[in-house]
Formats: sequence, C-alpha cells, structure tokens
Amino acid sequence: MDTKEKGLNTICTHVGEVKDNEYKGATSPLYMSTSYAFEDVDVKRYPRYFNTPNQEALCKKIAALEHAEAALIFGSGMAAISTALLTFLKAGDHIVLQQILYGGTYHLITEEFNKWGIEYSFTQGWRPEDFEDLIKENTKVIYIETPSNPLLTITSLYGIAEIAKKHGLISMIDNTFASPVNQNPIDFGIDVVIHSATKYMGGHSDICAGAVASTDENIARIFSLAKNLGGSLSDYTVWLLERSMKTMGIRVKAQNENAQRMAEYLDSHNDIRKVYYPGLPDHPDYDIAKLQMKGFGGMLSFELKENLDALQFQKALELIKSSMSLAGVESTVLSPARTSHALLGAEERKRQGISDALIRFSVGIEEPEDLMADIEQALKRTKNAG
Ligand code: PLP
Repeated sequence: MDTKEKGLNTICTHVGEVKDNEYKGATSPLYMSTSYAFEDVDVKRYPRYFNTPNQEALCKKIAALEHAEAALIFGSGMAAISTALLTFLKAGDHIVLQQILYGGTYHLITEEFNKWGIEYSFTQGWRPEDFEDLIKENTKVIYIETPSNPLLTITSLYGIAEIAKKHGLISMIDNTFASPVNQNPIDFGIDVVIHSATKYMGGHSDICAGAVASTDENIARIFSLAKNLGGSLSDYTVWLLERSMKTMGIRVKAQNENAQRMAEYLDSHNDIRKVYYPGLPDHPDYDIAKLQMKGFGGMLSFELKENLDALQFQKALELIKSSMSLAGVESTVLSPARTSHALLGAEERKRQGISDALIRFSVGIEEPEDLMADIEQALKRTKNAG
C-alpha cells in the first residue's frame, strides 16, 4: 500500500497487516513464538533482533504514520531515547538539549553521560537560536521536545532542522506530547523522531513501549546498537500496541477537541490564574504551533489562583484521577513540582517557570461537561476547606 495516498485512520488500521503468505503459515494474531517454524526456516528471527513478524508489522505502521522510511519499537520510551542518543554519541562528543525536558531524559543525561565521557549543554530557552549559541566543535546531536512538558512551549521544527543541517548535526525530537496524529517532524527536516508509545500510541494507560522513526540508514545504525543493548518490546505488548493504534487517529482527534474546550473553559474561569495550551491564541507560540501541528494536542497545564491550594484541589477531583502517566482515554492530572519535576529542585523549577500551583492536565475522551462538573465541585470543596 502506498501510504502517502492513504488517510490517517486507514494507516492506523491497515498498515502492517500480515498478508497471505507473507509469513508463510503464520496464523496466530500474536506471531510471537521464538520457535515459530517458518517455512523458509529463517533462523534470524528472534524478539531481541526486533524482527518477529508482528514487530516488523508494527514498525511499518509507525514509519508510515511519521512519514519515515523505517521505524523500530522498544520496551519503553526511555529505551528508545537512550538507544537513539547512544547511537549518535560517543566519548568526546557533545549534545545540545532543550532546557525543559521529560524528567527521565534529564536524569539519563545528568546521571549517566559524564560516566561515558559525553558532554552536554542545556539551553536557557526553547528558540532555535538558544540551541545554535551552544554548538561547539564536537557537537553531534541537537535534541528537542515540542510541545514541552509541562509548560507546552513550542520550538520551531523547521528552525531546528535548518541549524542541524548547517552544522552537520543529527536533529532529534521526543514527539510524545504531540503524537504522530498531530505532528510529523520529518516533514520539517528533523532526522530522528522518538515516542514514548506508553502514551498516545498505547492510549489506554496499560502498556509500556517506545518507538523511533527515521531514514533506513539511521534506523539500521540504531538497530545495530539496539540488539546489543536489548531493549526490545515483548511480543505480547507489540500485539496490544498494534491493537491500540488502530484507534489512535480517532482517539487523539477527540482528545484535541476536548483539550481545546477545556483550555477555553479554564482560561475564562475566575478561579484559574493561567492556562498553558498552544491552541489558545494568546499562547506566545500559537503561530508556530499552527504552522507545524495538525492539532494542538490533548495536554494542557493550568495554575489556580493564589488563594486556592493546588494539592487540595487535586485530591478533591473525583472523575479526573491523579496519575504519573498521560495520554490515556481517561483524563488525569499531575503536579509536576511534586512528581515529574520534583528532582529538579525548587530553584531550577522556578527558573523554568514551573510553579508549585501548576497542574498538568491530560485530557481524555470523556464528555467535556462531565470534566467541567468535576472541576467545579473540586474547586468548591477546595474553597470550603480553605
Ligand atoms: N518522553 C516523554 C515526553 C514522556 O512523558 C515519557 C514518560 O512519561 C517518556 C519520554 C518516557 O517514556 P517511558 O515511560 O515509556 O519510558
């Protein structure tokens, strides 16, 4: 199937279907047995080689969704991130990374890279020039997250890709917050696209997985390290992920719509001090988001007015649960200061603009009226308790 001519939902449901005779005699939907007797006695097939039939099928789907030549799937987002980074970095090399990063990635860099002799610099901001200023002779990789976690800042994909090309660097993005439904960085010239598939690709808060999409050449390089590091995805989870991805297009579009409704509702609410959502026209990066995103996504953050206790509010929510994860079909909230960004320390959080009152909201597919009713009752209980 020529995926360029197919729509999003057709790719989600059909790409990677195992065709008659493609895997001769394989009938199980799992295709997971390591001792599976393929007619051609292909002894090279082995789960940790990322090449069992269902792994390959899912990789085709992810590559098609990200407009990439190839993809690989991993046992977690962090396995995907660490393997991709280490493929392009060795002792003596340098990487420039965005200041606001997913906590796990930040810890990988700050706790491990010194041991391996890899130098790194974090930007002060998220504009392309903030990255270019830090490029050195030995810089090899430039790494971004847009929209970022938890403040939903937007970095120009085109701007980063241009800088990377100018200096001969590999550009990488963690595209988890956007999902392939809302943003395809390869179209803007980014080299390597990474996902925590635990999030929108999985979408049901019940699996852990990761993915990387890029050119055939880059994926071959990433694979050659990946098989040695051993971060492949269990075949049973491959099956669950592939099943989940059939509905990713419609799920994420529903989440986009709900998040827009919730952002507008919170933005006009008397008890809310500030809303961070790239789909609000007064978001400082709204124009860039409009240019490079097909939808503004299901993630937003907000701060309550100073007189309201954010923790009390979070505990008073009934329908919207507190959760470390995000992007599921059910709405969840999290306090970045207490969880994902706790280890940054108060001073660094303040510098990055992450206040203790900030609440990150992963909007699900429930009716927005039910979400609003839950927020109203939680605000009322927070005021009464205060
Ligand atoms: N990237 C982002 C933006 C994330 O939010 C997460 C997890 O929360 C990860 C990467 C890591 O993914 P995983 O937990 O699947 O290893």
